[in-house]
Amino acid sequence: MPTISIVAPVYNEEGNLHVLYQRISEVMAASGETWELVLIDDGSKDNSPAIMRELYKSDPEHIRVVFFARNFGHQIAVSAGMDHAAGDAVVLIDADLQDPPEVILQLLEKWREGYEVVYAVRAEREGETWFKRITASLFYRILYGITDISIPLDTGDFRLMDRCVVEAISSMREQQRFIRGMVSWVGFRQIGVNYTRHERHSGKTKYTLRKMMRFAWDGITGFSYFPLQMATYLGFFIAGLSALAILVVIYLRAFTGTQPLEGQATTLVMVLFLGSVQLISLGIIGEYLGRIYNEVKERPLYIVREKLGIIGDK
Ligand code: UDP
Ligand code: MG
Repeated sequence: MPTISIVAPVYNEEGNLHVLYQRISEVMAASGETWELVLIDDGSKDNSPAIMRELYKSDPEHIRVVFFARNFGHQIAVSAGMDHAAGDAVVLIDADLQDPPEVILQLLEKWREGYEVVYAVRAEREGETWFKRITASLFYRILYGITDISIPLDTGDFRLMDRCVVEAISSMREQQRFIRGMVSWVGFRQIGVNYTRHERHSGKTKYTLRKMMRFAWDGITGFSYFPLQMATYLGFFIAGLSALAILVVIYLRAFTGTQPLEGQATTLVMVLFLGSVQLISLGIIGEYLGRIYNEVKERPLYIVREKLGIIGDK
């Protein structure tokens, strides 16, 4: 049994896999621990699956591969990696080398000191568009502000988790997964380590704007009722405002003789405004309802096509 499992989700990363393997083996050799690299093929359409087979053939002692039947998404791929990892500690890392494998040594150091979760904080980001930086930064701050758990700022999934944390997360079979939130939720002794997030080694981001928004929404709805409560707050606010407006209009009509808020335009604007507020509220309820529906179906999180090097019932 290896001591350290390194889990990397792979979706069309043909240009990165060899370098990833190279750098991880160097780092792990330096660490002196026994290790395995668990690669999850998230339905790649490029040459990645063939490269992963090659890697497994050349180093069956360290490489494990799980092939998904289709693309299930990054968070599900990471979850599958945790399900199949055998180590006493599990490190989650992106396959595109944005998270430098050398940082694993720092993570291991803190783990040996007794921390059960060591997360890597993006102190600096290189080579990402200003749009990505701003949206990411904004997202972490909004999430931090409205959720009930304290999710560390500017922290992705690059982290080390002790076996006890991995077991806890794996026992949570929710469909809409937001791993970094789930790790904060389980607790244990946690600590951050700063690092510089690099540019992608090769290829481009697999997180389209659509995937990013879905991910952000999963994070928010998974850990907060705030969007639901917003309808209540807005309702009270508008009720207060209209009560005030009624008094003002009565006063103006009775004592000044002016005729304020006349005509169809005013009515139309108010009707459209309230109509849209109601539709938005309904939409938010719908979002939560859809998520409940997804959970109720209790489908497996992912479907595996094939496994290489995975031992036992894992
Ligand atoms: N990834 C995945 N499935 C997906 C999208 C991404 O397994 O549907 C993997 C991808 O191969 C990479 C990691 O998740 O190893 C992070 O993705 P990416 O680098 O595209 O995200 P970014 O770093 O731009 O946020
Ligand atoms: Mg990346």
